[in-house]
Amino acid sequence: MLQFRNNRLLSIINKSTLSSSSYTSSIFSYCTCSSKKQQQTNDDSTTITSTTSLKTKKNLIGLSKEEIETQFETLGLEKYRAKQVWKWIYNKGTKNIDHIDNLSKKHRDILSEVYNIDHGVVNKDSLSIDGTRKLLVEFKGDEVETVFIPERNRGTLCISSQVGCTFQCTFCHTGTQKLVRNLTAGEIVSQVFTARSLMHDFGPTTNKRLLTNVVLMGQGEPLYNYRNVSKALKILTDGEGISISKSKITLSTSGVVPLIERLGQDFPGIGLAISLHASNNKTRSEIVPINQQWPIEELVQACINFTQKYTKDRITIEYVMLKGINDAKQDAYNLIQLASQFPSLINLIPFNPWPGTIYECTPIDQIESFARILERGGLKVTVRQPRGTDILAACGQLVSSSQKKKGIIIPEQEGEVIKKDLPLKSSYLNNV
Ligand code: SF4
Repeated sequence: MLQFRNNRLLSIINKSTLSSSSYTSSIFSYCTCSSKKQQQTNDDSTTITSTTSLKTKKNLIGLSKEEIETQFETLGLEKYRAKQVWKWIYNKGTKNIDHIDNLSKKHRDILSEVYNIDHGVVNKDSLSIDGTRKLLVEFKGDEVETVFIPERNRGTLCISSQVGCTFQCTFCHTGTQKLVRNLTAGEIVSQVFTARSLMHDFGPTTNKRLLTNVVLMGQGEPLYNYRNVSKALKILTDGEGISISKSKITLSTSGVVPLIERLGQDFPGIGLAISLHASNNKTRSEIVPINQQWPIEELVQACINFTQKYTKDRITIEYVMLKGINDAKQDAYNLIQLASQFPSLINLIPFNPWPGTIYECTPIDQIESFARILERGGLKVTVRQPRGTDILAACGQLVSSSQKKKGIIIPEQEGEVIKKDLPLKSSYLNNV
């Protein structure tokens, strides 16, 4: 099955809109910087021709179904037209309003005057030897990375929620890139839309999907962009659209404690992962700075509440193995004490090096000893198989070249540009 998927993936790339001359061994580029806005094409033969047109039209991707209904009514279209358009976009993956053939030409023209279907531009498409595929997707001049990881029984898309990140976790490549802005709901949804589209993974709901699971583990802290992330989750889980079950979506947080409860209330049944990475406050505060605001004790209590009220599943505890930092036997004993307070799954992640890092990965035999201690302590443990390391697509390796902009602050807007480094505790409130 895996072989089939990888072959399909390769054939998809070969069939894709990339010109053959743009191939290198495992890295595929869509276009050059000078022409990247003009070169995107797609199944529906839509070509986004200018930045101007994108700016002047509203993007249908990212609007809720209710918003589309209301806006269509003001344009004189019946309410049910919204559902038709919704299905065309999210079931069939259309990128061109003109292809919605159960709308009259007149209605299509009205909509085309006001809206577009802007799903971003894939500036780079890299394929790892293990089948992992990394997309560098541009939205309004900013780039984020989205990674597809095919496995035997499922295909997981790791999506980003911010350009850069609010935090600077010291072991994380994204943490070297300061926060540029939050992604809009449309930009978050578009990563799924684009990946499905590139893999020809739309069509009848009876079709077996390549992309079955979504994890918010890419660039950014999703709970620091909760307003847009929650809107995107509503769109992704809508039964008449992309229709990904909440149980197939996992949100990973570095520990924004107050919003863990809110996530559970809004999306009961959703998967939760905690980027813990250390089992005592001293080490965690050094490598995961948010711990200075919400220390381990508060985080564990939030996990206990979440599993008691909002899910029957285990919470995944992500723990990157850093040589000489968090990999001693005592760290394992502390971790047993913490993670046995709620249903948990410990995911040990061999550190994936990136250029300029000061860290090294714990030797594999020591990782295995660490895992055995945890298992003997009654925990369920997996050691993550690194994926996509040859294309820097593995966990903690994501970073894009977008740089923080200066001097603009529009905190109420979607996709705001952030003026300065956010104070840890107050900033998320803008996004709720
Ligand atoms: S680990 Fe997560 S929260 Fe920390 S810097 Fe990386 S992306 Fe941001």
